Amino acid sequence: MKIQLGTVGVERIEERLGLGFQPHELFPAFESHMLEPLRHQMEPTFYDATENRFRTSIHSWLLRTPNCIVLIDTCVGNHKQRPQVPRFHMCDTPWLSRLAEAGIQPEDVDYVMCTHLHCDHVGWNTRLSNGKWVPTFPNARYLFGRKEFDRWDARRADYQHRHINDHVFNDSILPVVEAGQMMLVDDGYELDGVLTVEPAPGHTAGHVCIRVASGGKRAYCSGDIFHHPLQIHHPQLYTGFDDDPDGGVRTRLRLLSACADENAILLPAHFAEPHACFVRRSGSGYVADFGGFDVPNQLGGDTHTIDSGVIS
Ligand SMILES: [Zn+2]
Repeated sequence: MKIQLGTVGVERIEERLGLGFQPHELFPAFESHMLEPLRHQMEPTFYDATENRFRTSIHSWLLRTPNCIVLIDTCVGNHKQRPQVPRFHMCDTPWLSRLAEAGIQPEDVDYVMCTHLHCDHVGWNTRLSNGKWVPTFPNARYLFGRKEFDRWDARRADYQHRHINDHVFNDSILPVVEAGQMMLVDDGYELDGVLTVEPAPGHTAGHVCIRVASGGKRAYCSGDIFHHPLQIHHPQLYTGFDDDPDGGVRTRLRLLSACADENAILLPAHFAEPHACFVRRSGSGYVADFGGFDVPNQLGGDTHTIDSGVIS
């Protein structure tokens, strides 16, 4: 999919698309009554009822700003040791070929930005070369949020271990540091006059959101503030991987409000087709609006008006 936001071109680079977690696996507080009234919107693209599993995506956002080629989030990557997450273990996907199909070679990338440093957002930061992990993008600056880098710096005495991120710092972050290509940025950092780093803590301590603003249009590359469209209707749904579930709820509500007020496009990291949406207010809550995007099935068209009634 491609979107033009003023002077900024937005394109999705897919790593994988398919069935993922069961609802209660992803969201510990999930209850079936949350999904039931939304099944007409969620099936079959976002939820497979036969398997009782969510359908999700792992992708990067490729942004062409007036002067730069920017990649946001770099998926799982190939050949990474991830025994803790079997479907991420020793992958071999054609993500680089898909980037080439979009007209971009690794040396063309000027900036890599990671919303956070979980294993499915930093994988293609590096690739294996003669048995060594090296930066995939030789000419890029890799911009990491300072708080997020500190949170995952396994060399620190106060490092908080998370099994899901085992090996990630050493094979996908440290080689970038050692190559001198990392640049730590603080909240509010601006790139090329059209991208701004905004704080979005909760899922991880230093998670950031990248705001795109150009020509009066806005979008938010929201990383894992949302994993699934159900969280637009039910923002209180946290994941078992969140560092701070309550903080994540506050961040979700803040971004929902911003998207609705600004008519901004939400560009999450894991939504299945059409991979992006608008957010509308409905009653005391919010609903996902996929109208205007290229929807491959019956989901398309109108603004959905189901009142989640979950925000007081
Ligand atoms: Zn993720």
